[in-house]
Amino acid sequence: MRKLFLSGCLLLLLSACMQKKQVDTIIYNARIYTVNERFDTANAMAILKGKIVAIGNKDSILQHFSAHEMLDEKGQTIFPGFIDAHAHFVGYGKELFTADLGNTHSFDEVLERLKIFVSHHPNQPWIMGRGWDQNKWPGKAFPNSVEKLNQLFPHTPVFLTRVDGHAAIVNAKAIEIAGIYPGEKITGGSFESFHGKLTGVLIDNAQKPVLAVIPALSAKAYAERLVAAQQNCFAVGLTTVTDCGLSYKDVLRIDSLQKAGILKMQLYVMLSDAKENYDYFLPKGPYKTDKLFVNGFKFYADGALGSRGACLLQPYTDKNGWYGFLLSSAMHFDSMAQVLIKTPFQMCTHAIGDSGNRVILQVYNKYLKGKNDRRWRIEHAQVVAPNDFTLFGAASIIPSVQPTHATSDMYWAESRLGKNRLHDAYASKKLLAQNGWLPLGTDFPVEDISPFKTFLAAVFRVDSTGFPPSGFMPENALSRTDAIRGMTIWAAKADFLEQEKGSLEVGKNADFVVLNSDLMQVPWNKVLQTKVLATYISGQKVF
Ligand SMILES: [Zn+2]
Repeated sequence: MRKLFLSGCLLLLLSACMQKKQVDTIIYNARIYTVNERFDTANAMAILKGKIVAIGNKDSILQHFSAHEMLDEKGQTIFPGFIDAHAHFVGYGKELFTADLGNTHSFDEVLERLKIFVSHHPNQPWIMGRGWDQNKWPGKAFPNSVEKLNQLFPHTPVFLTRVDGHAAIVNAKAIEIAGIYPGEKITGGSFESFHGKLTGVLIDNAQKPVLAVIPALSAKAYAERLVAAQQNCFAVGLTTVTDCGLSYKDVLRIDSLQKAGILKMQLYVMLSDAKENYDYFLPKGPYKTDKLFVNGFKFYADGALGSRGACLLQPYTDKNGWYGFLLSSAMHFDSMAQVLIKTPFQMCTHAIGDSGNRVILQVYNKYLKGKNDRRWRIEHAQVVAPNDFTLFGAASIIPSVQPTHATSDMYWAESRLGKNRLHDAYASKKLLAQNGWLPLGTDFPVEDISPFKTFLAAVFRVDSTGFPPSGFMPENALSRTDAIRGMTIWAAKADFLEQEKGSLEVGKNADFVVLNSDLMQVPWNKVLQTKVLATYISGQKVF
């Protein structure tokens, strides 16, 4: 009897071996970087219902599984889908439909671009543009007057956002609609004036009164922008984007576009620091679907270095007695930390200057009280006082870093900060050491959406031309492995999504990207030539 039972078992086992398990897709002959704990590679994986059911050796996978869709990758490289830990997806989509003012070399060139834009997009109720940077203009100064802009557009309001979003130039019509008057003051911002007249330059919070009177997009126009944004993102291998600062109304629109199958991009959302968002989401708590996770609130400690809005402990080296400023009082951050610590929501705060960083590090440490798993984040963590670095690790605070900011700012950062302070700025490696992991992002549309640019800046610390040859502050370069982790699993972890994505392991979503070259091996000058051959979300090809 016992013998019979045993041979029965053997038969069952044999038939189980012979009968292959049916899955949806088998990928094989690929060089797959799993980005698991050991950073293992594999050459095949099996996908069923959007999840990875096996990953490893091709022979073993072909032996155990069969699929309708057999994809021979012919030696191409596969990484987990890239996750941008800090970006503005909706803002980017909107920007795709505004005048591109990037790389203009004078205010006159801005005007020329606007003329062309308006000839292609007539009858806009507001003329919107983005991307100017006065550091690239003669004298590196904001304009003292927008008279030429007023002459060009006397009846249509114009709003032109600076490349970092921390300043805008508006015309007289926009000022009139917003009801701003010369000499007006605002906390955390400044209405620039010259000889008692408004210059049309609005720094940080001074943009708010004008932004408030710009009419909202129609549902159709909104969808059109997000679909355009996702197409570009899929083309560079992004499968999840962290949107840092949306309203609850954006969330409702995004959720319905995703549920309708129009928007396939997956988003992690930080809500912006506004009463309407607290009123809507605090009683409900975090919101999660298979494509959307609304789980954080985004604050601004200070502005940006480029517009001298970053809040510094000592004055700017290139502006006498000027420290920059906080965008809200330290009390505000304290009281919101006190509210959020009692909820599951993540607190995420933009901090660029060493003073901005210190204020937030102190508030976070006060409420987090030592090591924890709340993953409260400081976005950018750009200039940190030498003694403040340990405040990250002390309360498990996550620095969220954008490597391209270092290579975009390197041309003028020293003039703002001086040599000594620069030493503790853009310090990716030192920040990584604090918790042993570091999410990476781009802050697009402030920077380009490309994860390859992030990789180049993180690993080689050079711009697209290879400048500077030895790298900008190369002691803060990351290893290739750490850069890839920062763009995948660590970015997922910063969004509390590491159980489902960020690496290619059994049970996780089949979000991955097929590349024509191997980022783990290519020389610096081939990084930006890497092509995305295909992008998959949950096993579905989206590009
Ligand atoms: Zn940002």
